[in-house]
Amino acid sequence: MNTARIDLHLHLDGSLYLPWAYETSLKRQVIPAGTTFEQYYDMVFAKNTKDHSESITKFALMCAVLQEREDLYQAAYQLTVTLAEKGLYYAEIRFASQQHTDHGLSQKEALQAVIDGSRAAMAEHPEIRIGIINCMMHKGENAAANWQENLETIAVTGELLGKGAVGLDLAGFENNGDFRDYAPLFAEAGKRGIPYTIHAGEMGLGQHVLDALEMGARRIGHGVNCVQKQEYLEAVLQSQVPLEICVSSNVKRDLNYAAHPVRYLINAGAKVTINTDNMVFARTDLANEHAQLQALGVSREQLWQCTLNAADAAFCDEETRQWLKVKLAAEGK
Ligand SMILES: [Zn+2]
Repeated sequence: MNTARIDLHLHLDGSLYLPWAYETSLKRQVIPAGTTFEQYYDMVFAKNTKDHSESITKFALMCAVLQEREDLYQAAYQLTVTLAEKGLYYAEIRFASQQHTDHGLSQKEALQAVIDGSRAAMAEHPEIRIGIINCMMHKGENAAANWQENLETIAVTGELLGKGAVGLDLAGFENNGDFRDYAPLFAEAGKRGIPYTIHAGEMGLGQHVLDALEMGARRIGHGVNCVQKQEYLEAVLQSQVPLEICVSSNVKRDLNYAAHPVRYLINAGAKVTINTDNMVFARTDLANEHAQLQALGVSREQLWQCTLNAADAAFCDEETRQWLKVKLAAEGK
């Protein structure tokens, strides 16, 4: 039984095929002519620290190379093929359409390009299905900084919901401003029937997990800091809101895998799903995430339950969920 079949939390810009990102960065003059691949690699990973502001810089480097329709298409195509080749049955790829408008694309065009790229790959690899999550962003000091862009993100996601887009998210600087200021945006998404997950309690306060639950999040991006207080943990356990756990991304290079709350959360009965977050930045893939957890004593049965949790928590339509469950049932025998 291969338990590494579903990834619900995977950022496009953090998971690009690096040789392609390098060549395209040269072509688009994102990096100086003459930059070697080794130098580029260093630019990508030199800032791979626990400091969130520095890690955001890496995303800026990647977003800079995803400003043309054909590049967004190609990136989504490549990532979908990679996931299929790694044996995944289903994944939700997320990106923020508002980060890809520097060269004149509209948010809708950017979202459509990613949908089209993933669909082209799915046509060649019917063994995998992909949904696209569009992210609203925490960009400035508070929610007012890019309110209009976030409203536009909601609007275009609503337009393409069921046509490749499956939901919304909020990503970026979790600690800037009052987290609850985003509530009206999520209320707007709810009015349009768009399901959403929210990055909460990753690098920010455990309180944000409670805030995200109050804002109607169907899933929590990370949510690991709910262990900061019994009150937060109880809310997670009682609501059974699925947590999108990404261990390698959280521990980065110098922290202790065993100290990560994932085992505690599984044993406490939280609805845990296992994901990669950023395959390049975290130097991982889904099989590695499952292998690392197994090495910490998480049983195959527990990992399988995480995969079943992910099938239940996916933002896909019911036809796809049934398709997925049939595949998992065949594997689980
Ligand atoms: Zn994330």
